[in-house]
Amino acid sequence: MKMFKKILIANRGEIAVRIIRACRELGVATVAVHSTADEHAMHVKLADESVCIGGPKPSESYLNIPAVLAAAEVTAAEAIHPGYGFLAENAKFAEIAEKLGFMFIGPTPEHIRTMGDKITALETARTLGLPTIPGSNGPIEGVDAAMVVAKHIGLPVIVKAAAGGGGRGMKVALAEKDLRNAIEMAMSEAQAAFGDSRVYLEKYLQTPRHIEVQVLCDTHGQVSILGERDCSLQRRHQKILEETPSPAVNHAQRSKLFATVAAACRKLGYRGAGTFEFLYENGEFYFIEMNTRLQVEHPITEMVTGIDIVAEQIRVAAGEHLRYAHESIMPRGHSIECRINAEDPETFAPSPGMITDYYAPGGLGVRVDSALYSGAKVPPYYDATVAKLIVHGATRAECITRLDRALREFVVGGIKTNIPLHRRLVAEDWFKAGDYTIHTLEKYLNIK
Ligand code: ADP
Repeated sequence: MKMFKKILIANRGEIAVRIIRACRELGVATVAVHSTADEHAMHVKLADESVCIGGPKPSESYLNIPAVLAAAEVTAAEAIHPGYGFLAENAKFAEIAEKLGFMFIGPTPEHIRTMGDKITALETARTLGLPTIPGSNGPIEGVDAAMVVAKHIGLPVIVKAAAGGGGRGMKVALAEKDLRNAIEMAMSEAQAAFGDSRVYLEKYLQTPRHIEVQVLCDTHGQVSILGERDCSLQRRHQKILEETPSPAVNHAQRSKLFATVAAACRKLGYRGAGTFEFLYENGEFYFIEMNTRLQVEHPITEMVTGIDIVAEQIRVAAGEHLRYAHESIMPRGHSIECRINAEDPETFAPSPGMITDYYAPGGLGVRVDSALYSGAKVPPYYDATVAKLIVHGATRAECITRLDRALREFVVGGIKTNIPLHRRLVAEDWFKAGDYTIHTLEKYLNIK
C-alpha cells in the first residue's frame, strides 16, 4: 500500500501540531480544521491548508461531523487523524469516514465501540484474560438495585458511568450513608453528560497506582508493547504528571503484565495505537479501561523507546508494517511529562487569555509539545492543557533534576498556569522517592 498524500487533522492545539510534525517528516501534506476562535492558532499556521469548520463551541466545529467530513472532501484528504478527545473515540464518525472513503487513523469502529462502553470493555477484558476489579459485572438498573449490589461488594465503592470518560461520571461512596446520593448523582450526571444513565459499580481501591500499557499493532499481525506509564498523579481523576518506567513495578511484574496485554491484543486483532489502563495495588493489576487512540502522555514513551508513535499510527493506517522488530525495543533511561494547564495553580480556575510572553525551555533531553506562541490566544472553550513539558534523563534522579531546571526556564506570560504547582511537586521528598498513589496529589493539595 502507498503512503497517504494528504491527511486532515480533526483536532486543534498541541496535538494537532504534534500530528502535523509527524506528517511533514513522512512527506505527507496536511489539512488543519479550525473554529472561528482558532483562526490564528498555531496548527492553522503550520498546516499546508486550513478550513474553517464552524463556531467556537466544540459542537459547532471540532465535534461537527458533517463539517469535518466536508473539509476532508473539498481538500481531497485521503485520511483523517482524530488526535485525542473530540471525535477520537466516536465510532460513528470513524464508520462514516471510512464509508465515504477516508482512512480513519485509529482502530476499527467495532473496537472503538466495544472499548468505548466501559461495561462492554470490562466484559471483553475478562474474556481476554485481563483481571478486573471486583464489582457489579454489568449495568445496574435503578438506585435500589444498585444499593443491594454495593452492599454485596462491600464499601467503599465507586459508581461509574458506562459511557464515562475524562474523569467524569464517577462518584465515590465511602460509607453506606453516602451510597444513595452517589448512585443518584452518578446516574443523573451520566444522563446529562452522555445521554446514557447506565452505571456500574466497582470496589473503590484506597492505595492504587494508575499504570497503563502502550500498544502498537499493525495489520499484519505484529503486536508491540512499548512499555508502561505511571499516571498516578491526578486531580479529580485527571492526570497531571506522568512518568515511565513506573517507580513501583519490578521487572518480573512488568514482563507478566506485558505478556498478558500482548495476548489480549492478538485475540482482539487490534490495529493501531492503544492504551490498556490498570490500577495496581498490592502487587496486582486490575484492568479499568482501554483507550483506542493516541494518549496525551504518549511522548514519554517516545522519549525512552525512540519510536515516533504518531508516525507509526499513520504507517499502520496506510497498511505498512511497523518499522521496527518488537525484539529491538530497548527502553532507555527515564522520562517525565508535566501537563501545563491554563489554570490558577491555587484555585484551579480556568485562565484563558492572550499569551504576552512565551519562552519554551530547551537543551539536552527537553521537549515541549505546545501550540503556544507570544501573541497566541487561549480560548475559553477547549481543554486547559496548553503545553506538555517532556524530559528525559539517564536515570530517574537525573530526569527530575532536569525537569526542575526546565520548569524554571519555562515562561508563559499573560495567563495563569500550573507551572508553579509542578515546581512544588518535583521538589517534594515523596515525589523524589516515587512514593505516591492516585490519591496522593489530592491529599497534598488539601493540606497545602
Ligand atoms: P476515565 O475514562 O473517566 O478516565 P477511568 O476508568 O480511566 O475513567 O478512571 C480514571 C481514574 O479514576 C483512575 O485513574 C483512578 O484514579 C480513578 N479510579 C477509577 N476506578 C477506580 C477504583 N475502582 N478505585 C479507585 N479509583 C478509581
